[in-house]
Amino acid sequence: MFRIQDPHEAPWQARILLGGFDACAQHDWPGRRVATIYLLGCPWRCVYCHNPGLQRRGAPRALCWSDVMARLEALRGEIGGVVFSGGEPTADRCLPDAIEAVRAAGFAVGLHSGGAYPERLAAVLPRLDWIGFDLKADYAGYEAVTGTPGSGARASRSARLVVSSGVAHEFRLTWHHEALSADAALLAAHFAHELGARRFVLQVFRAEGVAPGALAMASAPPAALVAQMATLFDDFELRTDICGLAP
Ligand code: SF4
Repeated sequence: MFRIQDPHEAPWQARILLGGFDACAQHDWPGRRVATIYLLGCPWRCVYCHNPGLQRRGAPRALCWSDVMARLEALRGEIGGVVFSGGEPTADRCLPDAIEAVRAAGFAVGLHSGGAYPERLAAVLPRLDWIGFDLKADYAGYEAVTGTPGSGARASRSARLVVSSGVAHEFRLTWHHEALSADAALLAAHFAHELGARRFVLQVFRAEGVAPGALAMASAPPAALVAQMATLFDDFELRTDICGLAP
C-alpha cells in the first residue's frame, strides 16, 4: 500500500510495519482487557503459527501509527494496557520507539515474543510491564518446530533475560502431538522452572489461523504431562483459548 507521509510523523512512525490492531483482546494479557498492536515480520516458520500472514515484512497494511494512537485514545479508560504482538514484534527496529510512545500516552505495555532477537529484547525489557514468552520446545527440539537453525540458542538466551529482568511474565508452550513429544514438552517446562519462571501455561493447539493442512487435528495433552507440569510451578494453567490471534 502506498501512503503519503504525514509531515509531522517521526521517521520511525513512517517505517514501523503495522500488521493489525485489535481493540478488544481478552486473552493477550491474562486478567486484562487490552488493545493489541500487531507488527509484521518473523524470522521463524513455526509449524503451528496462528498468524502466518504476519511472518513476512512486506508492505504495511492500511493502518498507520497516527491511526493506532487515535484508536488507543478512544479506548482510554476501557483497556488495561496495550500489547505488542506479531509476528515477532522485536523483528521491527521501531518497536522501542513505539513502546515509548504508548507509555508516554499513559498505557501499561505488554509484549509477546518468542525471543528470536535476544539483544533487542534486552533493550525493551526495562520498558515493559508484562511479557508473554512463547517457548517452542526443549532446546534440542527447537529447529523442528521453528524450521530455523540456531533458534534454540536464541530462545534460551532470551528466556534467561526475561526471568532475570524481573518483569512480570508468563511462559507458554503450545501442545500439539506432532510438534512435540510429551517428554520434550516436559523438558521445556523443566527448563523454564530451572530458570525461575513463575507462571507457566500449556496452551492446546487450535487450528484457527494456521495454514490449511499444516498439522493434523489437535489432541489433548496427556493427563500425566499436565499433572507433572503443574507440580513444577506455583502458577500453572492449561489453556484452551487462543492468545495473540490477529483479527
Ligand atoms: S508462531 Fe510466532 S515465532 Fe513462530 S512463526 Fe509464527 S509469529 Fe513467528
